[in-house]
Amino acid sequence: MTTDHAKAKAIYESYLAREAMLAPRRDYARRVAKATGGTGQTPVEPLATMGSKGGPLVCDVCRKPMILEGGAYQGLFADEGWRRNPTKDWTSWISGGMVVRIETNGMLFLFHGYPGRSGCVQIADKAERQRRADFVERPDLMEILDQLSAYFAAELPEQNSDAVLNDIYRVLFKYDPGLGVNAP
Ligand SMILES: [Zn+2]
Repeated sequence: MTTDHAKAKAIYESYLAREAMLAPRRDYARRVAKATGGTGQTPVEPLATMGSKGGPLVCDVCRKPMILEGGAYQGLFADEGWRRNPTKDWTSWISGGMVVRIETNGMLFLFHGYPGRSGCVQIADKAERQRRADFVERPDLMEILDQLSAYFAAELPEQNSDAVLNDIYRVLFKYDPGLGVNAP
């Protein structure tokens, strides 16, 4: 194997490892978005139980759970409200608003607030815009993709496609918004 192929192989292996780590988190992001989605009130159970280790989903900025609004549960964190009333399909308004977002890398992000108006999401969006503006693609990117293509042609011809190269580019070299604090 040439030095270039060995380099390309190492990159391909790091792509496979990263992809294996991301795939369940992507799936998790879709499940959380579905469980908490819709208009109007939000089901309390997913807010209280779909976070890391079965705990509450927390805000990616302040790391606190969503806050319930209305009635006897006014001002409580979702997990505390759920402890007091663990009834399936119970829904609540969210105090101060909530944003559930699947980022460009497929990861879940959750914030207090209303985009462009108030809350943690405003802080997050400002910082994210700055990071995207500051992001610089690595200068040897084209060379790396060429090396990958040559390596695939020699060793793994079935992988030598634009789709695979695009996916490697997307997972390893494009701007990455991160993993988010909530995990499956
Ligand atoms: Zn927050």
